[in-house]
Amino acid sequence: MPTHAAVVTGIEQLAPSVVQLTVKLIHDDFTFAPGQWVNFHFPEGVSRAYTIASAPEWPQALELCIRVGAGRGGAALQRLDSGAEVSIEGPHGAFLLPVADDRPVVFLAGDTGIAPIRSIVLHMLAANDPRAITVLYEPDRRHILYAADFDPLARSGTIVHESGNIEALIARNRRTVLSATIMAAGFDGFLSRCRKALDDLDLDATAIISESFGPEP
Ligand SMILES: Cc1cc2nc3c(=O)[nH]c(=O)nc-3n(C[C@H](O)[C@H](O)[C@H](O)COP(=O)(O)OP(=O)(O)OC[C@H]3O[C@@H](n4cnc5c(N)ncnc54)[C@H](O)[C@@H]3O)c2cc1C
Repeated sequence: MPTHAAVVTGIEQLAPSVVQLTVKLIHDDFTFAPGQWVNFHFPEGVSRAYTIASAPEWPQALELCIRVGAGRGGAALQRLDSGAEVSIEGPHGAFLLPVADDRPVVFLAGDTGIAPIRSIVLHMLAANDPRAITVLYEPDRRHILYAADFDPLARSGTIVHESGNIEALIARNRRTVLSATIMAAGFDGFLSRCRKALDDLDLDATAIISESFGPEP
């Protein structure tokens, strides 16, 4: 997979221990599908997988939404400055919205797992995708990431966006969930809980499209 030179143009604190990096690619030969991730190479040599939170309609400046972990990636993030020269390898991943499927789409997001879902939802709206969109989101404590994007869309009735405990949200939206394409993203513990909650509805939890971020940082 090709490596692309890039510059960090913004570092924004979205919540305690969650940052958004804005990364500008030097050349315009990078394309990706919404839901994909990249290997982000820090200047000090460490690399970590981060999912693109922005829509592919704006490929020159990628937004990455990252929980700052206790490991080497987390430490490298804390030392990263705006203006740093980095590189991006990718895109990778198969967390992709099916095209030949006209069912409504229910997204299950845990914490920074909202990143690929934001990319897909923004893309669906930009592309006038006719499918109904429901985002069920379990934030870390009460820190609703990207509320500035999702709140106006929910208020205008363009999408449904509910936040809280994921088991309660799945139970409350049972009828929609049972007839939908389901896409879930987040850390391992969150995804296990989603599968169990879907199992309890007698849904085949293996049929969901999921992206695991690995163990909780
Ligand atoms: C496909 C994919 C996409 C991803 N996309 C995202 C994303 O969009 N956003 C996001 O937030 N994350 C994402 N991740 C997770 C991310 O890649 C890292 O795994 C995560 O940020 C932890 O990295 P780290 O370097 O801090 O921890 P690592 O060094 O990788 O260590 C893993 C874990 O071990 C523990 N650990 C390691 N060192 C120490 C220490 N010194 N003290 C205590 N505990 C320690 C911590 O729990 C740590 O989180 C993604 C992962 C994958 C596989």
